[in-house]
Amino acid sequence: KVTRKEKENKRTGLRGDINSKCRICDDDMIPGKSSSLSCGHNFCNDCLRMRLESQLKMGPSCITATCPEQECNVIFPYSVAKRILHPQLFEKYRNYVTQSFVKMKKELCWCPGVNCVWISKRVGISTDVNCRCGSKYCFLCGRPCHSPCTCSLVERWELRLNEDNAARDWLIANSKPCPKCKAHIQKNQGCNHMTCSQCKHEFCWICLGNWSDHGSQTGGFYNCNRPQKSQGANDLDKAKERLEYFTHYHDRYQEHNKSMKFAENQMAEIQSKIRQFMQLRHCEERFAEFVKEGVILLIDCRRVLKWTYVLGYYMEKGERKKLFEFLQQDLEKNTERLSEHTEKKVDAINRDEMLNYIALTRNYLRNLIDGMSEVQGKIRAAD
Ligand SMILES: [Zn+2]
Ligand SMILES: [Zn+2]
Ligand SMILES: [Zn+2]
Ligand SMILES: [Zn+2]
Ligand SMILES: [Zn+2]
Ligand SMILES: [Zn+2]
Repeated sequence: KVTRKEKENKRTGLRGDINSKCRICDDDMIPGKSSSLSCGHNFCNDCLRMRLESQLKMGPSCITATCPEQECNVIFPYSVAKRILHPQLFEKYRNYVTQSFVKMKKELCWCPGVNCVWISKRVGISTDVNCRCGSKYCFLCGRPCHSPCTCSLVERWELRLNEDNAARDWLIANSKPCPKCKAHIQKNQGCNHMTCSQCKHEFCWICLGNWSDHGSQTGGFYNCNRPQKSQGANDLDKAKERLEYFTHYHDRYQEHNKSMKFAENQMAEIQSKIRQFMQLRHCEERFAEFVKEGVILLIDCRRVLKWTYVLGYYMEKGERKKLFEFLQQDLEKNTERLSEHTEKKVDAINRDEMLNYIALTRNYLRNLIDGMSEVQGKIRAAD
């Protein structure tokens, strides 16, 4: 009895279906004698071996051999090559891989894009790579572009983001909801007489009762007879201050990230917008290309601005940081304007004005990246 799912798996050759057949010879898949590639295509090892051996005869280019399935771009996995090749042939294959890797490492790298097989070359000092497939990534770490931050700062930031949740939890654990309005109140003095900053309700930190009920029956006006845990008020202040500093940068980082996603969504309709513009102005496509150019630049600006807030978070106070914030502000202002222009309806677009903004904004973007990639200023040691 064959279920619908099994039939479906047979058709698409999805992994995990031991009944599926080799996509070359149509033989049954036998555990240990057949392989599934990460793309989900199944083959018997004999077919894969023949395929890879013929590629090996072509020399070093064999390391870019792909899944035998037509139009599947997944690179032949090293681990499968190791499993199926005769040890002597595998040694040859391995040498090709190491040689090319050493050569590649300095100026070439694989695009991390899904299904992308392009190898990109590093240009200049920037670590940003624009792949032909459209993905933009960091040459050194493979993450999406993160100028003007270095890879190590990005790593620290990622750790910090995780830590932030813990810090918030700790603060919430050390605050109590106002019994009246439920606002989170933090105790920052030794005194148990609390006044809610929101609703001005006066209450006791220990028992959350009305302050006016306190007096002789609670062991004195400024005491509560319930046992009091010692409070690390100082630690609390420090944690709060640290969180506020972090939140300032994190909020802006997130806002630009959201705006970036929004700009990326604009790309989905860009071709139809270009066509509309051509019809409206009776012009050729090359006169309408600026519409797309504007959105691409906007995405770049948003991404860079997002990362400037990470760099800003880690930069030590000083002249260098002031200059940086100046450049950041310039880019921010112009990006907002560019954003307004790219969101305009087609009939409201002024081509000259928009081209002007594109040129201007591109300048500010370059100023910031060039200015920051040379000297990053002092980076705080603490996270
Ligand atoms: Zn086969
Ligand atoms: Zn495949
Ligand atoms: Zn790519
Ligand atoms: Zn990187
Ligand atoms: Zn309150
Ligand atoms: Zn009390």
